[in-house]
Amino acid sequence: MAGHEQLETEIAVIGGGAVGLAIAHRLARAGAEVVLIEGNPHFGDETSGRNNQVIHAGFLYPPGSLKARLCRPGRDALFAWCADHGVPHRLAPKLIPATGQGVAALSALKVQGAAAGVTDLALLDRVALARLEPALQADAALLSPSTGIVDAAALVASLRDAAERAGALLVPAATALGGELAANRHRIAIRSADGTLADLSCRWLINAAGLGAAPLARALRGFPAAHVPPIHFARGQFAAHRGPVPFRHLVVPLGTVLEAGGALSFDPSGQARFGPDTSFVADRDYRLTADVPPAQIDAIRSWWPGLDATRLAPEFAGIRPRVTGPGRPPGDWRIDGPGVHGVPGLIHLFGIDTPGLTACLALAGHVADSVLAPQPNGVPA
Ligand SMILES: Cc1cc2nc3c(=O)[nH]c(=O)nc-3n(C[C@H](O)[C@H](O)[C@H](O)COP(=O)(O)OP(=O)(O)OC[C@H]3O[C@@H](n4cnc5c(N)ncnc54)[C@H](O)[C@@H]3O)c2cc1C
Repeated sequence: MAGHEQLETEIAVIGGGAVGLAIAHRLARAGAEVVLIEGNPHFGDETSGRNNQVIHAGFLYPPGSLKARLCRPGRDALFAWCADHGVPHRLAPKLIPATGQGVAALSALKVQGAAAGVTDLALLDRVALARLEPALQADAALLSPSTGIVDAAALVASLRDAAERAGALLVPAATALGGELAANRHRIAIRSADGTLADLSCRWLINAAGLGAAPLARALRGFPAAHVPPIHFARGQFAAHRGPVPFRHLVVPLGTVLEAGGALSFDPSGQARFGPDTSFVADRDYRLTADVPPAQIDAIRSWWPGLDATRLAPEFAGIRPRVTGPGRPPGDWRIDGPGVHGVPGLIHLFGIDTPGLTACLALAGHVADSVLAPQPNGVPA
């Protein structure tokens, strides 16, 4: 973008993570004119590139929440997308272990899962669990056979390519600074990496800026500040495990063990990693601690007493944008359209934390349905 350009489009999507790219693809495929603006030089380098890469089955979320409604269909859509687009992925069954009083929660999760369409969960007693994973110490476990793993970078690349093929214009290294909202067209100020400025005029603005979504919403003149929720940054650090682990399943304990980083997952190449832990930070901070926190080692040992902690090393960190802060359950996603805030042609996606990667295609379908639906004044989008 050279000089102070004036650009026009039907739909502007801000944010080129998995969610923004999936939205751009979905809308461009439906024939809409779409421009996507991404602040980084490469797509998917923020939260979409700093996570567990787990394809969640969809049973962990409160009934009726957006997460519960979109995770399961998103999981199915993602498996199909990966198969169609050559994105490395696989089934990776997951165990939720529990001890003592925690065991009762497993039955409740099974019921919650069934309500969300996850009907393949199985409760395992101590004997059945020991047969499956002899090194795992717990009284019982819930088995989720339809959990999976995806190569997140390959997924982002496939969404980027598909969006471009569908006709979307993707602009990396360009930051949406803010803008002005009006009844018929919005105006967004864009700054490119070389400092040049441009004005992008659009009929629909879709704010899929992840950690940047709330600041961007606040920088839109004409947007009621009361409709920007406080977004908390839940940082999560991973620990890589050198050498193999004696487990074939993902192991995801709940509660304080999970919070301390005691979950086990594998990347698409089979490399074992533990975490993420959860700590709240004021800003984007991906720096690693010098050592693996002792609380994380204790959390892993609570179900794997045989852990050799000298094999662990801090690996990378990511940050989940959340609508709730410390000591509270993660809360639900917010997809705030005109029906919520009263501004036509504007959708904010706030707090898109886990399982946002799993559900990116379902989230895109949800957003596209509102954009493409006939508007109250009879004008098609
Ligand atoms: C530690 C951790 C573990 C997780 N594990 C899983 C998991 O196993 N499975 C799962 O399904 N989900 C998981 N998640 C959640 C998942 O990663 C996110 O929900 C998902 O990646 C969100 O995608 P997004 O496109 O909304 O956000 P992002 O990927 O962050 O994309 C937003 C983009 O907007 C850009 N941007 C911001 N502000 C501006 C601006 N003003 N102008 C232009 N561009 C801007 C950013 O550069 C960024 O690229 C995890 C997250 C974390 C942090």
